[in-house]
Order: sequence, then structure tokens, then C-alpha cells
Amino acid sequence: MYDLVIIGGGPAGLTAGIYAARSKMNVVMLEKMMPGGNVSITAEVENYPGTPGISGPELIVNMEKQARDFGLEIKSEEVLSIEVGAGTNGHTIKSDSAEYVTKSILIATGSSPRRLGIDGEEEHIGRGVSYCATCDGAFYREKHVAVVGGGDSAVEEGLFLTKFAKRVTIIHRRDKLRATKIIQEKAMKHPKVDFIWDSVVDAIEGTPTVNNLKVRNLKTEEVSDFPVDGIFIFVGYIPGIEFLPGIIDKDSSGYIITDMLMHTNIPGIFAAGDIIAKKQRQIVTACGDAATAIKSIEHYNEWYYEDEQYL
Ligand SMILES: Cc1cc2nc3c(=O)[nH]c(=O)nc-3n(C[C@H](O)[C@H](O)[C@H](O)COP(=O)(O)OP(=O)(O)OC[C@H]3O[C@@H](n4cnc5c(N)ncnc54)[C@H](O)[C@@H]3O)c2cc1C
Repeated sequence: MYDLVIIGGGPAGLTAGIYAARSKMNVVMLEKMMPGGNVSITAEVENYPGTPGISGPELIVNMEKQARDFGLEIKSEEVLSIEVGAGTNGHTIKSDSAEYVTKSILIATGSSPRRLGIDGEEEHIGRGVSYCATCDGAFYREKHVAVVGGGDSAVEEGLFLTKFAKRVTIIHRRDKLRATKIIQEKAMKHPKVDFIWDSVVDAIEGTPTVNNLKVRNLKTEEVSDFPVDGIFIFVGYIPGIEFLPGIIDKDSSGYIITDMLMHTNIPGIFAAGDIIAKKQRQIVTACGDAATAIKSIEHYNEWYYEDEQYL
């Protein structure tokens, strides 16, 4: 039986991996893609302490190396279900290729970009529709791109796109941005960035690649054509909970409810990072949650499995 299975290899999972492997737990991490999570698609990280301006991929390479150096085993598998065990039998995790029995589970599956759900979106993914400026920005050299959204991700990624695109138009449903003041100021001053306020995109058009958006002004209801070469969508995220048993408590948006020590309502199941219900979803908070979780997991495993008197 494993001491711990970590599900997800973003900053929360990797931090948990560093702490768990360093304290000699029998631990494995299951990551459905490459380790890194949303940090791998972040061009530049300005606010992670001690590494000003590091690129997301570089930060992740460092975290992964640190975890592997302590002996963390990382497997490329997608978790499909969790079976909650009774007593000290442990919980069972089923992935796309194996089954694991473990005393504790740390859910660190983060979140993935929300889609707009409009006509033309699905069929143009990879042909002009993107959710990742770092991954796809370079395809838009000297082109005109639209960015949908008004939060930090939208504006930061819009600014990143100015490295390639000749023009970046931010389309936002309100008349002001939600992004942090310093980022807003940068965008407002940037000569390549302009804005369409109070508006939404109703449809994405073009064959085979995007060449036009139907943009609707929410105040006048007027719909107009807006020719672009691509559209980057940053309108929030959805939590990665598809595989979770229904008995784990979640908030109305689907984020897992934990206490301050990262316990869920199920003994032996813990959660950390963007997947939990909280106010601040950042790399530093994901790492902090994970460090706290490992302490709680150590306690749980020791008391519940050795003394059977925990909780
Ligand atoms: C574009 C963008 C820019 C950002 N910029 C910054 C920034 O500058 N500074 C900052 O602090 N934060 C930034 N953030 C936020 C930051 O990336 C997140 O807060 C952080 O990545 C959360 O880490 P996490 O480990 O909780 O989740 P994630 O990074 O989402 O990682 C979750 C991992 O779990 C894996 N997974 C999901 N489901 C399964 C499954 N069923 N089985 C196995 N594996 C699974 C995923 O593949 C993924 O690798 C940005 C986010 C985005 C999207």
C-alpha cells in the first residue's frame, strides 16, 4: 500500500512531491500530461518570490527536478476514479493503466480553461482559437488577434501576444478591466493594444482558419463583423473533478471544500492548489497549500494507520 498518491503534477502536486519524497514517504505522482499544469503555459512569472521574471516552463523544470532528485516517482497516467475504502483498507485509485491502493490521496488536479460555448469555437480550436498564448502566440507574427476576457490572465497574455502580433484587441463584456492595476496600466499604454468594451463574441467564423468574429455590443445589442486572424480566450477555469466520487464536498462552482489543513470531508483524502475553494489561485498559494497538506497527511497516516485513533 502506498502512503500517498498525488493526483496532478502542477505546482501543488510537485511541491507535495518534494515534501513527501523528502520525508521518505512511499509516494507516487500521477499526471495525465506533462508535469507543470497551468504554469507550463505561462510565458513569464513575475510574482513567484525569488525568481523574478522566470518563464513558466523554466520554473516547472526546476520544480520537477527538485522533486525527482528527492526520489519522487512520476507516472504519466490519467486518474479515472477513486474508490473510498473502509477502515484501514486504504483508498483505491484507478487510472487509465493501473490501480493503486493508498493510505492517503492528495488531489491537486487544478483547473482548465473555460470555453465560451459559442458557434465556431470547438471546430476552430487549433485553427485560430487558442487558450494559451505561450503555446500558440508565435503563430501570429504580424497578425491581428483578439483576446477575450478582462482579468489578469487575459490582460497578461494579451501583453505577451504583442511580442508577435501587430495588433491585439481585448474584447471585454464590461466597461473596465478586472486585472491588477499595474497590468491594466501596461496594457492601456501599449501601442499595439486596443479595447472593445461592453461586448461579447457571439460566433467565430472562417474556413478553414478564423478570419472573422461576430461581436455584440451588450448596451446596444448591435452585432458587427470584426475581422481577425485568431482569438485567444481567457474567461476563467473549470475545476478538474470529473473523476471524483460525489461524496466529496464541493462548492457551487465545483471546487473542493477543505479545512485550513487541507482535509476534505473524507478521511485520507486531501486537496491542494487551484482545485480547492479559495480566493487566491496562484503558484505561491498552490505550493503553500501542498506543504500544509503533506504535514496533515503525515499526521493522518501515522495516527490512523499505526494507532487507529486519529479523527
Ligand atoms: C495563462 C495563465 C497565467 C498565469 N500566470 C500566473 C502568474 O504569473 N503567477 C502566478 O502565481 N500564477 C499564475 N497563474 C495561476 C497558476 O498557474 C495556478 O495557480 C497554478 O498553476 C495552480 O497549480 P495547481 O498545481 O493547483 O494546478 P494546475 O497548474 O492546474 O495543475 C494541475 C495538474 O493536474 C493534472 N490533472 C488534472 N486532472 C488529472 C487527472 N484526472 N489525472 C492526472 N492528472 C490530472 C493536469 O494535467 C495538470 O498538470 C496563471 C495561470 C494561467 C492559466
